[in-house]
Amino acid sequence: MSQQTRKPIRWGMVGGGRGSQIGTIHRNAALRDNVFALVAGAFDIDPERGRAFGLELGLDADRAYSDYKAMIKGEAERPDGIEAISIATPNNTHYEITRLALENGLHVICEKPLCFSVQEAEELLTLSRSKDLIVGVTYGYAGHQMIEQARAMVRNGDLGEIRVVNLAFAHGFHSEAVEEKNPATRWRVDPAFAGPSYVLGDIGTHPLFLAEAILDHMKIKRLMCVRQSFVKSRAPLEDNAITLMEYDNGAIANVWSSAINAGSMHGQRIRIVGSKASIEWWDEQPNQLRYEIQGEPARIFERGMGYLYPQALIDDRIGGGHPEGLFEAWANLYRRFAARMQPHDHAAPSDISNLIFPDIEAGLEGVRWVENCVRSANAGGIWVDYR
Ligand code: NAD
Repeated sequence: MSQQTRKPIRWGMVGGGRGSQIGTIHRNAALRDNVFALVAGAFDIDPERGRAFGLELGLDADRAYSDYKAMIKGEAERPDGIEAISIATPNNTHYEITRLALENGLHVICEKPLCFSVQEAEELLTLSRSKDLIVGVTYGYAGHQMIEQARAMVRNGDLGEIRVVNLAFAHGFHSEAVEEKNPATRWRVDPAFAGPSYVLGDIGTHPLFLAEAILDHMKIKRLMCVRQSFVKSRAPLEDNAITLMEYDNGAIANVWSSAINAGSMHGQRIRIVGSKASIEWWDEQPNQLRYEIQGEPARIFERGMGYLYPQALIDDRIGGGHPEGLFEAWANLYRRFAARMQPHDHAAPSDISNLIFPDIEAGLEGVRWVENCVRSANAGGIWVDYR
């Protein structure tokens, strides 16, 4: 992506404090290409710990805030106040922080799930449009170059008609009740903090967005879902779920969302089967995309190579051979967020129309998917119309 980085976007963070799972990744991604500058933060539910962490990160003392309301108010009163905010707090706070930030004229990058209900997500969408503000959602691997390659291949007809989509995000880290000792897992299995689902919203929405980005010509028509709590104390929230989906073009998909896939490290996969060929991508080996043409030996496409579609090379940083992964994919997304927030400074005009990133509509779609999955599962695993 060509860019003229004249002026980093003044940026603040809510959550993502010391020891949090995802805070470091946001900072790495936002700061890597000098498109954002971290100038304010309310990093922690504990005000003192949050302020101390802000000082350690190099913030001015008066911009290391004790809570997000003080930060949004304090920054609005400054001529050099923040222009964008990232939200990396537990799920139950996303809606209210996003809304307050938008009301105060800030662009938002929010963690998934965006909020708890379609109604809330639609309110945020309306608000962001009325204020002409960007909301990005961090389905991080969507920024990986091999996802661009997959999208270009589908668009170019390399696979033929799309028939079957296998999606999974199934790791094994919570195959036991680790929440008894781990606070970051404890809130994930409590509906008051996590919302109406655990693994569906926490991880299933990731491959769902990959499918949306790659197969943007296909819309889900209906779905059915079953969900289980193999660690019983997690009920009513599920630690495993299987969803079947029918698309409007007749294609069928399944999504395995799981935290109890014992032995699996991460397990985010997408396999797309067309009438001529299939492709497969796995986030544990993100630099490779498998391409299988019926009747021919399978090929492995490598990131950064000249034989890929041009779209898959736009974000290339180091050429082929060296591995790129999570951090680069996230940094690519943050650059795209910046390009949409301030196109004048951060993007060439030709970039803008081609930018693919998880936006407010993707956030809404994730919430809609979870809501429908839960509706189906709670009714015994019946088919439900998607819209
Ligand atoms: P965590 O429990 O590890 O950390 C949460 C952080 O937020 C802590 O620093 C906590 O002190 C802070 N916090 C909580 N309430 C706050 C408040 N009101 N104001 C300010 N700070 C507050 O959680 P986590 O695993 O980092 O998850 C945070 C969010 O990120 C969740 O929504 C989760 O779904 C999402 N997440 C996304 C990805 C991804 O790949 N996109 C990966 C992990 C987590």
